[in-house]
Amino acid sequence: MPGMGVFAQDSELKITSDFPGGNIKVEKVVNDTVWLSQDLRDTKGYWFYWCFKISGTSGKTVYFRFKDRPVFTRYGPAYSLNNDASWKWLGETSHTETEFKYTFSAEDTCAWFSVGIPYTRKNLEGFLSALRNKERLKMETLCFSEKGRAVEKLLITPRRKARYKVLLVARNHACEAMANYEMEGIIDAILNEVDLQYLRDNVEFMMVPFMDKDGVEDGDQGKNRIPRDHNRDYGEHSIYSSVRNLKAAVNTWSEGKLKMAIDLHCPHLRGHANEVIYVVGEEGEEMSRKQTRFSDLVEAHNKGELPFFSSDLIPYGTSWNTDKNYAQGISFSKWGTTIPNIDFSTTIEFPYANVAGVMVTKDNARVFGKSVAYAIMDYLRGLDKK
Ligand SMILES: [Zn+2]
Repeated sequence: MPGMGVFAQDSELKITSDFPGGNIKVEKVVNDTVWLSQDLRDTKGYWFYWCFKISGTSGKTVYFRFKDRPVFTRYGPAYSLNNDASWKWLGETSHTETEFKYTFSAEDTCAWFSVGIPYTRKNLEGFLSALRNKERLKMETLCFSEKGRAVEKLLITPRRKARYKVLLVARNHACEAMANYEMEGIIDAILNEVDLQYLRDNVEFMMVPFMDKDGVEDGDQGKNRIPRDHNRDYGEHSIYSSVRNLKAAVNTWSEGKLKMAIDLHCPHLRGHANEVIYVVGEEGEEMSRKQTRFSDLVEAHNKGELPFFSSDLIPYGTSWNTDKNYAQGISFSKWGTTIPNIDFSTTIEFPYANVAGVMVTKDNARVFGKSVAYAIMDYLRGLDKK
């Protein structure tokens, strides 16, 4: 049962998921071995998100066994000892497809483990409170979620009358937390990078960090939700409050100046195509040319340790990116292409753990976000010349 602590009679270990982002099913605990599985809830088929806290660990070696599906990244699970703030990857040789173990020191009384590095409202608050030069950023409530939570909307207004507007969202799939560290990098860069003055002077940003707000806080998979997930809900009859309200808000806010709409995602857990950062191609020749241009700009500006190659763009009609994948409904980026006067709409996929052999961290994800902010500036400057 989610949210309940599970004690085995012969073990001091206690596993819980009653915190924001928590997700685990404990099958059994025997001595220092725990049998677990991710909690799929209303997900159609398999997905891999899980996140739990374990206490009573002091001085023990604990064995964690999942069921038969892959639930670890190439660098294993992410973990945080004694607090849930400083996350690391357990490492490439730390695990099999379904098992890992951890030896806790005497001081390690509790720990958090997860498929990836989590990000919930608490992280957003911490980021915003430490952010510098945020006078022009304000947080409002887009709407209330199905469960009554406030869905945050961030607005960054320029010094002058806005020449262009840009829309950025994340967590249309609840479990894709790494996207928010990328978003932090974008926000920080807009406000603080000396060379991005153009954005501060001319461009207004609207951002929604958690589209599937309940899924993020409840620790849902979010992806492939039944009857459809948030990123298939952008058609005419949206079932989710956040999607309906975003479309309405954009309608009044855009004023024909909204030029770019970007949706931040994370891909599947493993495999070559999921272990690179890439832009997902939209339908249509003109849009795909613009996406290539944007992707080229990201590559040109990417000076961080995570590699980015524009050639990793997955054009529409290839790989998984085909009509079949969108049979359930319209995605954010598809809807984005229909906004009056929009120039460019896309999805960026950012891996959970591994970018072409480089381990993803909060910091290098933020640095990549900075490259995206530069690419946005250059893309908009290109429109100036038209
Ligand atoms: Zn996604």
